[in-house]
Amino acid sequence: MRVSRLMLVTLRDNPAEAEITSHQLLLRAGYIRRLAPGIYAYLPLMWRVLRKVAEVVREEMDSTGALETLLPQLQPAELWQRSGRWSGYTAGEGIMFHLEDRQGRELGLGPTHEEVVTSLAAELLRSYRQLPVNLYQIQTKFRDEIRPRFGLMRGREFIMKDAYSFHADEDCLRRTYAAMDQAYRRIFARCGLHAVAVEADSGAIGGSASQEFMVTADAGEDLILTSSDGRYAANQERAVSLAAAAVPLPGGCRSAGTGELLNTPNQTSIGDLCSAHGFDPSQIVKVLLLLARFDSGREQPLLVCLRGDQQLNEVKLANAIAAQLAAEQGSLLGITPLSADMLEQQGLPPLPFGFVGPDLGDAVLAGARRWSCSFVRLIDHTAASLESFVCGGNQPDSHRVGVSWSGLGLKPEPLDLRSAQAGDRCLHDPDQLLQASRGIEVGHIFQLGRKYSQAMEACFTSETGASEPFWMGCYGIGVSRLAQAAVEQHHDGNGIRWPLAIAPFEVVVVPANGADTTQASLAEQLYTALGRAGVDALLDDRAERAGVKFKDGDLLGIPWRVVVGRGAATGMVELVDRRGGEPRELEASHLLDLLLPEIERQRRGLLEP
Ligand code: ATP
Ligand code: MG
Repeated sequence: MRVSRLMLVTLRDNPAEAEITSHQLLLRAGYIRRLAPGIYAYLPLMWRVLRKVAEVVREEMDSTGALETLLPQLQPAELWQRSGRWSGYTAGEGIMFHLEDRQGRELGLGPTHEEVVTSLAAELLRSYRQLPVNLYQIQTKFRDEIRPRFGLMRGREFIMKDAYSFHADEDCLRRTYAAMDQAYRRIFARCGLHAVAVEADSGAIGGSASQEFMVTADAGEDLILTSSDGRYAANQERAVSLAAAAVPLPGGCRSAGTGELLNTPNQTSIGDLCSAHGFDPSQIVKVLLLLARFDSGREQPLLVCLRGDQQLNEVKLANAIAAQLAAEQGSLLGITPLSADMLEQQGLPPLPFGFVGPDLGDAVLAGARRWSCSFVRLIDHTAASLESFVCGGNQPDSHRVGVSWSGLGLKPEPLDLRSAQAGDRCLHDPDQLLQASRGIEVGHIFQLGRKYSQAMEACFTSETGASEPFWMGCYGIGVSRLAQAAVEQHHDGNGIRWPLAIAPFEVVVVPANGADTTQASLAEQLYTALGRAGVDALLDDRAERAGVKFKDGDLLGIPWRVVVGRGAATGMVELVDRRGGEPRELEASHLLDLLLPEIERQRRGLLEP
């Protein structure tokens, strides 16, 4: 390919829309253009990268025996109603784009394909003899993300590889899950990515194993917690740890655990209380009032207690709520803090926000217009294990000191609702501390178990002749996100440094002075020879100054540059490695001998899996 024919438009300055380096570089180097928030055109250079990534993914998936397929992106609502996910995905903060056809039937644009593939399996896979099966596709997905951002990192239209496996028993599912884990490691290594596997949240499904693959990068949206010995790594959404011990409250329980009243004017926060009275945050039980909304229409007030020095983990809370209530209430649509306005809309009197204790009575909800009239009460184990604590007095400007759970008349059932933090001690070895780093989630593998097959009555006939729901796994890779993550890991001040295996071109041949016929013809010859040898070569045939061409080459991130300059007269050229090192002078006739083995090696990937 000749640069003059490439429709190449590079930008000198960082576009205002781009916050992170990889996004800036992809825009500046002419890889992508934004059409609307989260919607990008993949320009020809980007498309070459994406095809290479997809090819690596395809080879590794095929090598596990998975079958490539292509499923419809338009999906009938009825399928999603059967799995119980339609309203969760379309109402409230749901991310599914949906529409009505001319007959008035509702359709969704596929954000994921469990429903479609499960319905196919139900029709096609009748006997245990046909199992296991693992189907995958590489396809554009649509998600109306709440915050599309960072270019291809969080798009509303993006390319995903998704795979779904079907098994007669759980052991077989585990084996495929392990094979996918290995295939994923090979894929990321071949694409030149440093990726780490971390324990991930399995959502409301509970119990099933799930693992995310994170490309470590400061720009990552996820927080990963890793033990210093490397034996534990988890997404913060899921991570568990030992909380620091609480500082005992001097004086212990007072007045049989009902506590003594303390005047706390305007001291609504933990910080206010501690600075006014010298408490340690771990001596306080803080109460969060929230509202959970379900697709059944029910709105459920929550009263959540945590130790004052702990942060609520919203994912753990949502899982706990879903586990307790989803069976009767359907899917959880969202959880929001209760506000004075919301109370007013329910026709309820105001609450003393900032002064609420764990024993706030359900009477305050009596007469609510739509809400259920009693709190669901959830207590984190850090709060539950306090013997004597400080908490709100349930009236403005008052707290109580020296309170116990029995003094409040409550029997806490401890739950894990707190977020693990960097510096916490690890469960597997309290001498190990958790360290935090940021990551970009490029893949997620998941043992779904029988959630979808049961909901959608997708069954096969087992060896004993019984009809049983399939065991299922699902396995995703964000192909377009991965490509940008590679830029986030591989760049310098001059531009991108693509790992060769996914670079749009492997070599760029640059005649320093295109008007010089000796240079131009040697460049042309080398370009042709590289092409014949199966190398993805680019010829910078533009009538630009050498400096401009070098700059663009660096920005584009082509791994190798062959400069044909004054030495051309004596058959000499210069070879430059975009990853660094001194340029090498060599005879043009030796170029292929030197470069081909190197390219061959780098195509297999730069990292050991
Ligand atoms: P996230 O937590 O980042 O929203 P997710 O848990 O919703 O991701 P999955 O449903 O597991 O993601 O999708 C599989 C893979 O697709 C993810 O690991 C990620 O690499 C990619 N992906 C998900 N959402 C997007 C998006 N909006 N833009 C680009 N890639 C995405
Ligand atoms: Mg998501």
